[in-house]
Amino acid sequence: MSYARALRCRKCGQEYPIQPINLCDFCLSPLEVIYDYKAMAKELSREKLAGGPLSMWRYRDMLPVEGKEVDIGTGFTPLVKAENLGRELGLDELYIKNDCLNPTYSFKDRPVSVAVTKAQEFGFDTVACASTGNLAASVAAHAIKANMKAYVFVPSSVESGKLVGIAIYNPTLVTVNGSYDDVNRLCGRLAERYNWGFININLRPYYAEGSKTLGYEVVEQLGWHAPDCVVYPAGSGLSFTRIWKGLDELAMLGLIESVNTHMYLVQAAGSSPIVNAFQAGSLHVNPVEPDTIAKSIAIGNPADGYYALKVARESRGGACAVTDDELIAGMKLLAQTEGIFAEATGGAVIAALKKLAASGTIKKNELTVAFITGAGPRTQEIVSDLVQPFTVKPSLESFEEVLGAQV
Ligand SMILES: [Zn+2]
Repeated sequence: MSYARALRCRKCGQEYPIQPINLCDFCLSPLEVIYDYKAMAKELSREKLAGGPLSMWRYRDMLPVEGKEVDIGTGFTPLVKAENLGRELGLDELYIKNDCLNPTYSFKDRPVSVAVTKAQEFGFDTVACASTGNLAASVAAHAIKANMKAYVFVPSSVESGKLVGIAIYNPTLVTVNGSYDDVNRLCGRLAERYNWGFININLRPYYAEGSKTLGYEVVEQLGWHAPDCVVYPAGSGLSFTRIWKGLDELAMLGLIESVNTHMYLVQAAGSSPIVNAFQAGSLHVNPVEPDTIAKSIAIGNPADGYYALKVARESRGGACAVTDDELIAGMKLLAQTEGIFAEATGGAVIAALKKLAASGTIKKNELTVAFITGAGPRTQEIVSDLVQPFTVKPSLESFEEVLGAQV
C-alpha cells in the first residue's frame, strides 16, 4: 500500500484524488502528491530502510505507488569522497553523487520508474514524453520493461549519441524542428488529444516524486546526515525542488535530526532564466531563448523555476551560471581528478562548484555534495579535442623513438 493521500495544488491548496492530472482546475498551478506522514512515520525506521533492496525501491514506502514497480535496477548509485577534486578546489569534505550509473546513464531513471509504474496502475497502454534526450531514453527503456508502447519527442538538435541511446529501445522516436520549449508545447497539445500517460505532463506529480530518492540516498550514504551544501543542475528546476522535499521529509519523519542544507542550483549562462531571477532578487522567471551545449538543461521557460527559486532562497543557498567554456573545463577537471566522465551538465556543476568554493560561498569544511546527473559518452564530441594519441609502429624501437624521452 501507499501513504499517498491525494494531489494538492501548490498555490491554492485545492485537493484532488490520485489520478493522471497535473494542473489545478481553479488556478492552473502544478499539483503535488501529499502523504499521510503520521502513518508513514509509524512504519519507517532507519533499520527497516537499510534492509531494503539496493535500489531506489528501498524507499518505496515514501513514493506514491500501489502496484508492482517497473524496476530496471535504478538507484543506490555511488557517493564518492572526492579527495583529488576537493584538494584542487580547497574543499575538505567534498562528495560526488555519481548518478550516471543508472541503467540508462542518467538520474531520469528515478522519476521515470515511478511515473511508468503509475502509468501501469492507471491502465495506460502507451507512455510518452517531451525530452532533451536523457528522459526519452529512460522512458523508452521502462516502456520495454513494462510491455508498453512509447512515443518520445525530442528537439532535432539533440546530440547523435543521445539519439542512439533512445533508438536502441525501439520507441516511436519523433524529432521536432524547434527548441525543447517548442517540443513541450506540442506535447501539451498531444496530451489533450491522445489517451497516453505523458510522463512529464499528466503524470508529472508522480514523476516528480522519484527524484526525492536522490536526497534520501545521499543522507543514508552519509550515515543519516544531511549535507551542508548541495550543488545541483536545473533545467525545469523540478528535481532540484524534490531533493529539498526529500531532505525535509526525512526530518519530518524523524529519520534525521534536522536539515540545514544550503541548496545551490546551476544553469548554463546561455540558458539561465532561474539564475537571472535569483540575481535580480525576483521571484518571477522571465523565459529566455536557450543557447548552450549543455542541452540537458537548455530549457528557456522552466516549469518549476518559481519553486526552484524559493528553495534556493529558503535554504539560504544560491544560483550560479557558467559559460560553455567553463563547463567544458569542468568536464575535464572532474574526469582528470576523480575518473568520472560526466555529460556537459555535470561539467556545469563542477564549474559552478569551483566558483562557489573560490568565492568562499561554500566553505572549506562544509560537507558538500555535487550531483552528476548524466553520463559523458552521450555528449563526447564536446571534448573530442582531447584525443591526441601517440602513434607508433608495432616495435619496441618505434615506441622508444616516440616516447623514450618521457618514460
Ligand atoms: Zn489551485
